[in-house]
Amino acid sequence: MNKEEEALALAAEDNQIPAFARGPRAKAAFVILVRNSDLQDMRKTLREVEDRFNRNFNYPYVFLNDEPFTEEFKTYTQSLTKAECKYGLIPKEHWSYPSWIDQTRAKEAREDMKRRKIIYGGSESYRNMCRYESGFFYRHPLMLEYDYYWRVEPGVHFHCDIDFDPFMYMQTHNKTYSFTVSLYEYVDTIPTLWKTTKDFMKKHPEHIAKDNSLGFISNDNGATYNLCHFWSNFEIASTKFLRSPAYSDYFDYLDQAGGFFYERWGDAPVHSIAAALFLPRDKIHFFNEIGYTHSPFTHCPVSEELQRKCHCNPKDNFDDHGYSCTKRWLSQNW
Ligand code: GDP
Ligand code: MN
Repeated sequence: MNKEEEALALAAEDNQIPAFARGPRAKAAFVILVRNSDLQDMRKTLREVEDRFNRNFNYPYVFLNDEPFTEEFKTYTQSLTKAECKYGLIPKEHWSYPSWIDQTRAKEAREDMKRRKIIYGGSESYRNMCRYESGFFYRHPLMLEYDYYWRVEPGVHFHCDIDFDPFMYMQTHNKTYSFTVSLYEYVDTIPTLWKTTKDFMKKHPEHIAKDNSLGFISNDNGATYNLCHFWSNFEIASTKFLRSPAYSDYFDYLDQAGGFFYERWGDAPVHSIAAALFLPRDKIHFFNEIGYTHSPFTHCPVSEELQRKCHCNPKDNFDDHGYSCTKRWLSQNW
């Protein structure tokens, strides 16, 4: 038995672990990209993750940052959990301009998008963040041992008791990607993403899955993108998928095209388009049970049974809102 298994066995004997949390475990971790300055929001979110789920399961946390974590950050995060916390520094090559990017053009694009008041349009760090979340976090040395990750951000909320293991759910039901909130992207942040994606599909037809979800993201059989995407600030998904030839080829192709810098491509549409095209649709899962808020949107399970485990107001549930794509996903009718 390794250290982690020993601790779990002891806690189980002590009846500290409820029966639902005693089954087999996945090779999985939380992954949190975060700045030192986000410590206070981070603590609140960790408290909720622990109370609602992880105090019973003790999955490890991997914190990632483009700057070294402070001792203060490490102390006041690790002190909220019995689970192991790991703190990683992002290598410079994963958080800077690749050689082929024209930095003058990138700067002009930022200035133009700032003038047009596009959200985060003028931000360089936001672009590095979106590119990192699109193409690199799952390749960080601290992430290599895991088959599944659960992405968390400082400031998000979890509203319901999660008295099952979502990682094991993914594993035993053969799911690859999951979400709680879906919505439409701002078109001004991705003007050429779909054209670039179509070029990629032509070049790599071998990566397109049979029975994919193209119909979820396009209303005209692929001619245009309808802007629907899974909101990637919450994700429970397979690291093997992100490391697969299909996803790797796709990310490299997008990265070469430069839209992370010349436009402001988000990791949410990138992950979502990849999941929709490279996976059969039954590998994508909607976690209705996981009540979740990332401001300003909430997924709140509305059934009486689930409401008993939650503290969110069902009236705040975004699923049926006109700006949500979840009804479209659930209809599976495209
Ligand atoms: P939004 O959700 O699109 O409004 O973007 P956020 O500001 O929440 O950023 C997304 C994620 O990246 C969050 O987990 C942030 O903590 C993290 N993040 C954003 N910018 C930076 C940065 O410059 N450095 C680090 N280390 N994390 C960042
Ligand atoms: Mn956020």
